[in-house]
Amino acid sequence: MVKVLIDKENASLQRIDERCIDCGKCLETCKNNNNLLSDDCINCGQCILTCPMGALVPKYNYKEVLANINDEESIVTISISPAVRVAIGDEFGYEKGEFLESKLVGVLKKIGFDYVFDTTFGADLTIMEEATELIERIKHNKNLPMFTSCCPSWVLYLEKYNPEYLNNLSSCKSPIGMQGAVIKNYFAKIKNLNPKDIITVSLAPCVSKKNEIKNDLNNDYVITTSELSMLIREKGIDFKNVEEKEFDTILGKGSGAGVIFGTSGGVMEAALRTSYYLLNEKEAPKNFYNLESVRGNIPIKEALVDLGVTKIKVAVIYGISNVKKIFNSLKNYHFIEVMTCPNGCVGGAGQPLIPVSKQLSYIEARSKSLYQNDNVAKIKNSYENEDIKKIYQDLLDKPLSHEAEKLLHLEHKDKSSSIKILEK
Ligand code: SF4
Repeated sequence: MVKVLIDKENASLQRIDERCIDCGKCLETCKNNNNLLSDDCINCGQCILTCPMGALVPKYNYKEVLANINDEESIVTISISPAVRVAIGDEFGYEKGEFLESKLVGVLKKIGFDYVFDTTFGADLTIMEEATELIERIKHNKNLPMFTSCCPSWVLYLEKYNPEYLNNLSSCKSPIGMQGAVIKNYFAKIKNLNPKDIITVSLAPCVSKKNEIKNDLNNDYVITTSELSMLIREKGIDFKNVEEKEFDTILGKGSGAGVIFGTSGGVMEAALRTSYYLLNEKEAPKNFYNLESVRGNIPIKEALVDLGVTKIKVAVIYGISNVKKIFNSLKNYHFIEVMTCPNGCVGGAGQPLIPVSKQLSYIEARSKSLYQNDNVAKIKNSYENEDIKKIYQDLLDKPLSHEAEKLLHLEHKDKSSSIKILEK
């Protein structure tokens, strides 16, 4: 067997058999990144980015999304993940890493989406919940280190291959999971809409998210950056000349902390800013807004962070093969961010195809662009976001409240007995 095996039911990716030359590049990529013990895929789709024949592609959903837009009864919302806005320009002749947020909103409105939201709102909500969860675990010295849970391929990896660590995983849904829940349960109420009429779409750099939402009633579709570019071309939209627009309100712009979620180390930095605030009731010192020790395209980063009342040891890791290297020394850490893709979601498999030799420079340019946006953001902390304050006032009360647990958290399941033996 020289290639990655892809089950027909795989919600994230597919192989166009006529294009495949059995070169084995996909398997080599999977072994380097994930080094799985069986052929059962964890849906990261990194093999898409290195297949020389374009034989591996995302499972496309954009035509179904378009059909919903054309259906007058449906109210179609789309939420944009951070890493998309710094990559879509690769498809339309912009400099690598160019930050095209308002242009993207304009394009999505032109396509016909009824509401265009920012997934950084969901990211801010994730931080409020996750930082609170971390503090609780540290206080009670329970289930440490805590692992982040926003990367679905990482979560699926643990569920399938190392379920003994599931208690270490944060119970927070991913930003997309939270965003969908808020749209159907909160936004719908405010706007007096029937949740059944709302179709929620997430625009993501990630093919794994397609699998994540399979059984989530609050999230209907995920389309990738590369699918969006196909949709734009099929609609004959002249990207460069579309008028720039702003996000719709309520679930509009998140904080700078929400934006840096798109790159490795971003979730950690965002969570530490809020953890410091929650523990000390004052803003974190200046160095928390440029935490060099958790930044950069390095597979395993570590830092000792002074949270005022206590010091914690953190790690930021990308790639499943890299996280396996620290499984034997977990007791040394309090908090670990794990993303599957190189340098986090900026290097996701739903991003535009770039020649392999240039991928690194594109991924780093996207990261830099997200940090630059955080640098100039008026609001740099999730807890300062007025829309976040409002949803706690109106609906959730406080992080980890009964309502928050119901809407924003989930239980991770041991799936080790369901690992599939695929036909070769
Ligand atoms: Fe998706 Fe990001 Fe995880 Fe890659 S790192 S699988 S893009 S969530």
